[in-house]
Amino acid sequence: MPLISRFDPWRSSLCTCPPKLTFNPYTGCDHQCLYCYASSYIQNFQDIHPKKELLATLKREAAKLSGETISLSNSSDPYPRIEASEGLTRRCLEVLAECNCRIQIITKSNLVTRDDDLLSKVPATVALTITTGDDNLARIIEPYAPPPSQRIRAAQDLTKAGIPVSVRIDPIIPALNDQPQKLISELASVGVKHITASTYKAKPDNWTRLTHAFPKVMEQLKPLYFQQGERVGGSVLLPKDYRFKLLKGVRDLAVDCDLGFGVCREGLAELNTAACDGSWLMPKAKEAKQCRLA
Ligand code: SF4
Repeated sequence: MPLISRFDPWRSSLCTCPPKLTFNPYTGCDHQCLYCYASSYIQNFQDIHPKKELLATLKREAAKLSGETISLSNSSDPYPRIEASEGLTRRCLEVLAECNCRIQIITKSNLVTRDDDLLSKVPATVALTITTGDDNLARIIEPYAPPPSQRIRAAQDLTKAGIPVSVRIDPIIPALNDQPQKLISELASVGVKHITASTYKAKPDNWTRLTHAFPKVMEQLKPLYFQQGERVGGSVLLPKDYRFKLLKGVRDLAVDCDLGFGVCREGLAELNTAACDGSWLMPKAKEAKQCRLA
């Protein structure tokens, strides 16, 4: 099975991402977010381990790239806590920086700033997930990820280093983090250029974890999801009109701050003002560049 694969090979009707490739340096993730979706389909998800033969396989596959966007990562975080000592994602970036590709990082960790030297060498963008500006709330919903205050600081440092940054407010859970006014204006003030927003999609295991942490809120949300909501694949979404209203409110805040905006897996592409995943921020790959690994 190849390491680098096509993102969303099933072409979900909810996804509006431009074509791109993806790979995960690690299997599993140790941030242990309560709302995590990947934990429902990867066993022992928090027991993180590097992919087998990772660097040799990556070198072989990356040598064939010809300007594609490659996204790290979509089923895990490329900067779990052990990355600080392992440096595996950094070594992967060293390989990719020699090749003809564009790099999109998706992470909740400020550790990404360690690699700004490599990300400056290639067309790249960083999408930092910041679900809330409230460190106390984040400590509950994303217990082992760096606090949002550090991620906002990372956004500022990356933009200062010339690396374009978008922020994912994902997922938005009604009554928990659905009022992002202050967060969005703070993000705009540190140089963030795009917001991607997405509502919480209920799966049995993430619903159980959230109910344990926020029993009253989840009891309140139960009819919205399970009586009026929309079932898509193995997930239950909020009713479409509710999602539209909520996400339009976030879009208006982003537009007021001159930021691009897109929704993720909502079937509401009409709300997008730019490529939903913020990839429009990346410079084009240098056409003449040859992969030095080839
Ligand atoms: S960072 Fe992403 S993959 Fe990791 S636990 Fe949180 S939601 Fe899951």
